[in-house]
Amino acid sequence: MFVRVAVPVPALDLLTYRVPAGITAPPVGARVVVPLGTRSVTGIVVDLCERSGAPEGTEIRPLKTVLDAEPFIPSDVVELATWTAEYYAAGPGETITAVLPPKTRGERVDSHKSVRMLSITPAGTDPDLSVTARQREVLDIVGGTAEGIASADLARRGISADLVSRLIRMGLLQARQARVDRDPFEASSLEAAPVDPHRRLTLEQESALGRLLDLSRARTFKAALLHGVTGSGKTEIYLRLSAAVRDSSRRVLMLVPEIALTPQVAALFRQTFHERVAIQHSGLSDGERHDQWQRIRRGEVDVIVGTRSAVFSPVRHLGLVIVDEEHDSSYKQEESPRYNGRDVALVRAQRAGALAVLGSATPSMETYSNAMAGKYERIVLERRILDRPLASVTVVDMREEYAAEGPEVILSRPLREALAARLERREQSIVLLNRRGYATAVFCRQCSGTVDCPNCSVSLVVHGEGATRRARCHYCNYSARVPNACPLCKAPYLEQTGFGTERVEAEVRRHCPTARVERLDRDSVRRKGTLTALLGRFRSGEIDVLVGTQMIAKGHDFPKVTLVGVVSADVGLGMADFRASERTFQLLTQVAGRAGRGETAGEAIVQTIYPDHYSIQLACRQDYVAFFERELHFRKAMRYPPAVSLINAVVRARTFTGAMDDASAIVEQMRGQDRSLKHYRVLGPAPAPLGKLRGEYRAQFLVKGTNRRRMREALVGILGARPDLARRTVVDVDPLSVL
Ligand code: ADP
Ligand code: ZN
Repeated sequence: MFVRVAVPVPALDLLTYRVPAGITAPPVGARVVVPLGTRSVTGIVVDLCERSGAPEGTEIRPLKTVLDAEPFIPSDVVELATWTAEYYAAGPGETITAVLPPKTRGERVDSHKSVRMLSITPAGTDPDLSVTARQREVLDIVGGTAEGIASADLARRGISADLVSRLIRMGLLQARQARVDRDPFEASSLEAAPVDPHRRLTLEQESALGRLLDLSRARTFKAALLHGVTGSGKTEIYLRLSAAVRDSSRRVLMLVPEIALTPQVAALFRQTFHERVAIQHSGLSDGERHDQWQRIRRGEVDVIVGTRSAVFSPVRHLGLVIVDEEHDSSYKQEESPRYNGRDVALVRAQRAGALAVLGSATPSMETYSNAMAGKYERIVLERRILDRPLASVTVVDMREEYAAEGPEVILSRPLREALAARLERREQSIVLLNRRGYATAVFCRQCSGTVDCPNCSVSLVVHGEGATRRARCHYCNYSARVPNACPLCKAPYLEQTGFGTERVEAEVRRHCPTARVERLDRDSVRRKGTLTALLGRFRSGEIDVLVGTQMIAKGHDFPKVTLVGVVSADVGLGMADFRASERTFQLLTQVAGRAGRGETAGEAIVQTIYPDHYSIQLACRQDYVAFFERELHFRKAMRYPPAVSLINAVVRARTFTGAMDDASAIVEQMRGQDRSLKHYRVLGPAPAPLGKLRGEYRAQFLVKGTNRRRMREALVGILGARPDLARRTVVDVDPLSVL
């Protein structure tokens, strides 16, 4: 007997081992320890076979140990991983890593973990200690707890292990190991305001729920698109549908796009399902995640709420899979395996005979065309709860503002006035700009050169002002002092151009000096826990104006926000990406949906230099269907998804010509395999839009066609014969972006 094993090592194919005599063959999904070169690694059994399939005379090594008599990963999840690896042209090694819980490779499973607890020593309570401000802060936090605090919690608050060790060495803190049940809800359960369990559904909600209940009772695979405008009460429907599925002894998997949304949604589910809810996302510590994973595996929960990787949760008896904000780009993993969690969720539901519900106010082009084609049932919520009106949207033509106030203006007059009015009325505002940093480039007035990243073909972004000013690359994290003279012509005439969220924050502070202003973007929430804390403070009214990137546009429910300002609504439109209009439409519709979710009507002010662009016009009118039709026309004409299937491939090399030559070789072979152009066409190669990244040159080609399987097989076949090239080629099946 032989087993085929996926080992969590990138780029490795399935490996075949012999089951030695005297060992019972492990089931699919069991963990086994196998030899790999001179090492031993733990892998997952994917397949059992009577024959090794290897050529006569090849020696097949025996596996070393079988760790589980029962599947550790349910066999359907193993099959789902295999499907994912194949569909997305990824290695089984990378894919199996995605389905394993953290830190179980080779360890026996133990659901109770011990945790390192820190408490204050008597010496540490002395108020007159001479310590640094930061040390004081830590002592205050730890001293404020009755039984000490877990070191992971301190880490979450951004306190480094170094700082803690120093305090231990100074005799001010002590550490001990304690066995506790980790509860990732601790920090988050405060989040959700209790919902009245008896509140009545609206008529629209009632009929949508009724239809979904019918579909779920079929107990076979069905898919539905819940197309509901922002604020139409989709979450309430998910909750009630989930309860019904739970009552029929089946389980629920709910995917949400953002880590920030997980605690909020999970807390709502907890009000109905109490402790029978698990959360799964990468923001949990490994330990928490492991515990939650084990609870799911043991069948102790009915509902799992998580981000994309939760689609591989070891849950059995699945009756319902919900993908909320299904259009969201964070469902796509941008490293191998480059899967889309929404699409894997559909496959999972199909295989489990479950109902899949895709929810969105702005469905992706793919999902809406599937609904139009009758593959998904479309269920519509056209009205907001309590008939709250959608925000009124004003478009500000920035060309007029520049003419009136000069080219430097960032906040237009209407936006400044609207912000001031909100402050007066003690209402909250959101100001969105989808670009981080203070200035987007440093430019030389003498030679027109820009200060670029030495490793990537992009200009460096300025962060900070004054003494803390740095120039950073958003792709490779290269960082340098902002030079005083042009690196190219040495002239001392450098100027900052373009602006990002940091500059907008500064502008809001300048125009509204009394306002409490905070910024939310990837830089401001670098420290764990900051995001939840910031959102919590905004919700509780401690912040007047929140400036941020698209992170603030998603799903959040802030009832006191009555104004949303969008600075440069067209950030994405300048990019040569086929999804640019779709992204802009979604972002504007979603962000306008953040305003006026409470009693007071909302207003959105959208600044742009393309006021007539259809994605801006139609987003302002919140006319999804018109947008879909217009955009589909474009996608058909240009042969882009959903009109055709698309694979994006990027070949990396040390030199530009090397990358282009290698890409050409693959492209020629691909064309050779389908001369009739029956199945696909290959476009390129061409230098990738990001021609150089992290010191490597990149050439790109696109495969477009109607037969995705043929496209993928041709490409994978060619790369399979050239392992050196395969390692340098990124294959993205169903890419979200071709930039
Ligand atoms: P969506 O996800 O569709 O944007 P939400 O589910 O966030 O909308 O609902 C919007 C708001 O309406 C939330 O504050 C929610 O608690 C509230 N809500 C939902 N259903 C009802 C209802 N039937 N009656 C009263 N309020 C409701
Ligand atoms: Zn760089």
